[in-house]
Amino acid sequence: MTFVKFLGGLNTIGGNIVQISQNDSRIITDFGLTQQSLTSDVKILLHEHVLPPIPDLFLPEFSSSYTHQAIFISHLHLDHTAALAYLKPDVPVYMSRETYELYHHLVEVGLAANLKLDLQVFEPNVPVKIGDLTVTGFASDHDIPGICSLLISDGKHYFAHSGDVRLFGDHYENVKKWAKKFKQLNLDLFMLEGTSFSFPDEDPKEIDQLQPDVNREVECGQRFAQLLKSTRSVPVVNLYPRNIERLLRFQAIAAANHRPIVWEPAFAHLLRHYLPTERILELANESLDQSFQVSWEQINQQPNHYAVQNSFPNLNELGNLDHFSYLHADGGPLGDYDPDYQRLKQFLIDQKASFERIGTSGHASKAEIVKVAKMVNAKETVVWHSFEPQKAESELESRGLATFLPELNCKYLFK
Ligand SMILES: [Zn+2]
Repeated sequence: MTFVKFLGGLNTIGGNIVQISQNDSRIITDFGLTQQSLTSDVKILLHEHVLPPIPDLFLPEFSSSYTHQAIFISHLHLDHTAALAYLKPDVPVYMSRETYELYHHLVEVGLAANLKLDLQVFEPNVPVKIGDLTVTGFASDHDIPGICSLLISDGKHYFAHSGDVRLFGDHYENVKKWAKKFKQLNLDLFMLEGTSFSFPDEDPKEIDQLQPDVNREVECGQRFAQLLKSTRSVPVVNLYPRNIERLLRFQAIAAANHRPIVWEPAFAHLLRHYLPTERILELANESLDQSFQVSWEQINQQPNHYAVQNSFPNLNELGNLDHFSYLHADGGPLGDYDPDYQRLKQFLIDQKASFERIGTSGHASKAEIVKVAKMVNAKETVVWHSFEPQKAESELESRGLATFLPELNCKYLFK
């Protein structure tokens, strides 16, 4: 008998955690949080239901009844990983090789915490056996390297977790492949992210008018290229460091337009892991020891020769520029719900800088969520990772798909 228990993320964006267990074997997939806490006291975090209610994963005085267990991570966004900071060091945590490498690069340049964990690597398409259960990751498409959907089986049943997913990035082919595989397996349960159903900004009528061949990452790069050509002041771009492919794309576009990006040192170090032979320009505040370092003064002297990357914690440094245009490409803060977004807007008004959003989402549109659910066509689909899963549910039901809205911490039996 296999049990599926949802431990979080049923009506939030992120923090989705599910436990699949049989006898003495347990798989938990994804381990994120949706809120930042003022305390790191695990007992308080458990009491306040910030952490999933499994004390044996966090507290040394509790031992696990599972002989075989592991946590599998679909990708390295904090809403899928933040609870790892509280995990006991002896619980194996599996991630794809690309995710593992990204994590170590981020730690090395100071953009991620160095956690004491038993990290293990899985290769895409290669099953990993954890006691009676097996887990297989499949490369997918999201705005971060290493993203995988995850398939869990007890030998009789098949459960899958889409991870965060979209159909309009550089890797749509990956999604097609795993969706086809999942369809062939006739999944007992498909857990699908429904982020876009949280927001009212898409007309449901468009669901039947999907444009399949749009690559919005390419379009995002084209917007950047256009602005590099047309902007007379210094283009300042705000990028998210974990979206490596976009960093690489912007680096290449800026170089091709003879307006190379001057990166913050941590971003420059990160990029050098992926472009070891390329000259990556880096901001220097004081002495210019290396030929790849560029000062604010040099940028002001030749504003047509450079673009600048800036992350929000270093926003005030932009006061060093005489004139600049701010291009928001999905680094933080992301939107009005974050108080820092207002601070960013006010700073730009004070600096008389223009503001333009040029990024694109990592998440499927409503139409694409419906499409993925239909492609997989599981016996039952659960939409989670959404503020409004019931809207997704009724949309899927109206197209003949069976869905259900699970309850938090309930055990569902699969005989
Ligand atoms: Zn994500």
